[in-house]
Amino acid sequence: MSTFSPSGIRTLPPHVNEPIKGYAPGSPERAALQARLKAMESECPDIPVVIGGKEIRTGDTAKAVSPHKHGHVTATYHKAGPEHVRQAIEASAQAWKEWSEWTWEQRASVFLKAADLLAGPWRDTLNAATMLGQSKTVFQAEIDAACEMADFFRFNPAYARELYTEQPVSTGGTWNQLEYRALEGFVYAVSPFNFTAIGGNLAGSPALMGNTVLWKPAATAMLSGWYTYKLLEEAGLPPGVINFLPGDPVAISDVALSHRDLAGVHFTGSTGVFNAMWGTIGRNMGSYRSYPRIVGETGGKDFMIAHPSADVQAFAVGVVRAAFEYQGQKCSACSRIYVPKSLWPEVRDRMIAMIQDIRMGDVNDFRNFMGAVIDARAFDRIAGYLADGKANARILAGGGTDKGTGYFVQPTLVQTEDPSYRLMCEEIFGPVVTAYVYDDAKWSETLELVDRTSPYALTGAVFSQDRTALAEAHAKLRHAAGNFYVNDKCTGAVVGQQPFGGGRGSGTNDKAGSKLNLLRWVSPRTIKETFVPPKDYRYPFMAE
Ligand code: NAD
Repeated sequence: MSTFSPSGIRTLPPHVNEPIKGYAPGSPERAALQARLKAMESECPDIPVVIGGKEIRTGDTAKAVSPHKHGHVTATYHKAGPEHVRQAIEASAQAWKEWSEWTWEQRASVFLKAADLLAGPWRDTLNAATMLGQSKTVFQAEIDAACEMADFFRFNPAYARELYTEQPVSTGGTWNQLEYRALEGFVYAVSPFNFTAIGGNLAGSPALMGNTVLWKPAATAMLSGWYTYKLLEEAGLPPGVINFLPGDPVAISDVALSHRDLAGVHFTGSTGVFNAMWGTIGRNMGSYRSYPRIVGETGGKDFMIAHPSADVQAFAVGVVRAAFEYQGQKCSACSRIYVPKSLWPEVRDRMIAMIQDIRMGDVNDFRNFMGAVIDARAFDRIAGYLADGKANARILAGGGTDKGTGYFVQPTLVQTEDPSYRLMCEEIFGPVVTAYVYDDAKWSETLELVDRTSPYALTGAVFSQDRTALAEAHAKLRHAAGNFYVNDKCTGAVVGQQPFGGGRGSGTNDKAGSKLNLLRWVSPRTIKETFVPPKDYRYPFMAE
């Protein structure tokens, strides 16, 4: 194709966060979404592998089910084998030739259109797919699949533009320029189940910067992953720019990670999987054309700590929301709390009252605050932690599980006297929060304890009305969290407002939905032009 590049320094349509709809009884958005949910329940799409824009039904299939009703199949999907991965690498190389030459405005227009389609006619489809496939309540689906994904698609073009305008200085007689090239090769995007928007962003942000992508969606987020791909296709994404590869992660990764043209990995998921991928890349060094960019946002063991001056109700509500919304399956979910002895009886009793009030069940019933955990493996893992809690600590509320029709785990509050107890240190990824009660006089020591207790450093929150205590928390917890909250819960980061990511075992902290992330997907070329080059090789100092 010939690129359309009219002159002009273009600005973008204003990028503001997509407003969150309320879905209150009687609202038009509620009626529309419920109609889409009903229709989708009987649709069961047959999801193909997509390579170079072509849908391929490999015949090697698996089923996706609703976590809250595991007898209900939401989709069948075809799995890519090693030969499909090789074909996808070839298709991405073909597509790269044109896509990496498109102007940034042309690429941006695809994502800006996708955002508007998503905010409008596609909203119900993406929300319903996220509710049925990942067991999110309407609110959790709305803030993820509709709002966060639209935000990624609108804010990233603005950050890209900002990045492209960063240019070197030029002194007299020369013009220095930076060209932000796409990486040579393909980017391998591997997404988790817990956020529909993350799938769109892992594949979308490298593509926006001119790269072509192999996207392996999570098996347990297949329905929303498929509609995300279709949304981008409808927005005008050319064939082969993002290749959609459901299937066995190990088999797909074996081919992708050992290929000479691997230019980058864009991963979100557990720390163990990311470490294994990094290890594979390390072993393959020497066989790549360039050094692959490795970006991974991984696990967390997120904390909330109350100072004796904290507002008890604000803290208790913050913990309940942060620990139990989406069944504790957010990387930012609160899973350990530190409460001074003086406040503990009130915090405990208020939390127990809220936990007893929480409704859990089928997300089609909008009165529910919680749905089911994602699958049998997660259910068993969390149940194992609960059994440990029963044996070695005290369960103050919840603790029950039921996998009869869906994978349900009650919101659970555990108390331990041992601050290094497993449930205080390990990522559980379920609706379980463990409390450690500290002596009011040991604020400083407790901050140090929070900092060293887990290998992660993703999110954390401090509640206090005392500025001196807050200042100490800021300093002592500087490296304990990449997203740090003051008098607010540790979940709910918004694109453009709280760039997201953590350090230590929580990932490379490249801040999804920010310029820092986009920087990883470009390889700058410096260009120096001299207008009137010298004609004499000799310098003045050489004169007699
Ligand atoms: P997961 O690690 O099980 O899976 C993530 C992706 O990796 C999936 O697509 C999966 O199929 C793939 N995968 C699994 N095994 C693989 C292997 N051996 N080789 C290559 N790919 C493989 O994670 P999950 O259960 O989908 O998501 C939950 C995890 O993600 C939690 O640890 C959570 O903290 C983390 N998470 C982190 C962030 C963040 O921003 N830091 C955001 C969301 C989720």
